[in-house]
Amino acid sequence: MYYIDQKYLLLVSSQLKHFKKKSDGLYNFRCPYCGDSKKSQTKARGFIFRKENSMIYKCHNCGVGASFKNFLRQVDSKIYNEYILERYKKKEVEPDITQFRKPRFLLGDSPLKSLIKVSTLEHNHPVKKFLENRQIPSHSHHELFLAPKFFEWVNTLVPNKFPSLDGDHPRLVIPFFDERDKMFAFQGRAFGKENPKYITIVLDSERDKIYGLNNVDWNKKVYVVEGPIDSLFLDNCIATAQSDLRVRKKDNTILIPDNEPRNKEIVKQIERFINDGYSVVLWPEYVKEKDINDMILSGKSKSEIQKIINENVYSGIKAKTQFVFWKKVELKNEKNLSRNQYRHG
Ligand SMILES: [Zn+2]
Repeated sequence: MYYIDQKYLLLVSSQLKHFKKKSDGLYNFRCPYCGDSKKSQTKARGFIFRKENSMIYKCHNCGVGASFKNFLRQVDSKIYNEYILERYKKKEVEPDITQFRKPRFLLGDSPLKSLIKVSTLEHNHPVKKFLENRQIPSHSHHELFLAPKFFEWVNTLVPNKFPSLDGDHPRLVIPFFDERDKMFAFQGRAFGKENPKYITIVLDSERDKIYGLNNVDWNKKVYVVEGPIDSLFLDNCIATAQSDLRVRKKDNTILIPDNEPRNKEIVKQIERFINDGYSVVLWPEYVKEKDINDMILSGKSKSEIQKIINENVYSGIKAKTQFVFWKKVELKNEKNLSRNQYRHG
């Protein structure tokens, strides 16, 4: 199935040297079988091209030809296993090819142009290593950027945001794109111990501050988390970059707060979500990690996490009952909380 092949090709693309899209259905990179030219580091003679409803690999250096499936197994056995599983699941339902969204080119005249796209970094680059250590899925690397001098770059967008450039440092830039791939906000995450760890800057305050608008499908079940990075681990997931997760759409929306039953701010927010009629995930006690990235790092798979989430969604009266057991702090003025239903952000 072409659209699945293409999805998985993009998933492993950061592992393919000099990976380039030549045209629709034609990709070029250095051959992972023979390693390509020994004399030239830039020659790239491996090609993936569309053949009817699938993709085929061919190297013009060593002559290897392979189905997309065998090619993927050669490049990354873990992603290969996911591919097999996904193909198996999609078998009966032939997908509507018009639903597939082409990989978009996000830059144009965007201010991101002056930054470094993380997907273009070499495998052993410290930032690439940082993302790998946090197991941030490689299909999202093309929407993440490196600002070598974060303060200086921000000042080009918001003049004098940082009046002093003392202590300027590199940060990971996580852009918030709207439905048309225009950046309206971004978050800068520190790589080291710089404080604060996250700096969120909104360029257009008219917009709801939501990360992932360019990828979300509002016709499906939508998951909402606090952290943009956490959102990358789940399907159809957006992030609000604040502990208030209430988005405008309530139906078929599941709010997933961080797992912090002892954190008063989080606990208060959850009570608001429930009183407002949202469906909310109350993490079971055996889950100890405080957010989704930590769960991934502790070895839980995406599908395990998704299963825990789907099994622990509460709303209405059931949510109110479960909440009492779940929270590990007492709230003062509990009666007043239901009056406090404003939205901020
Ligand atoms: Zn070859």
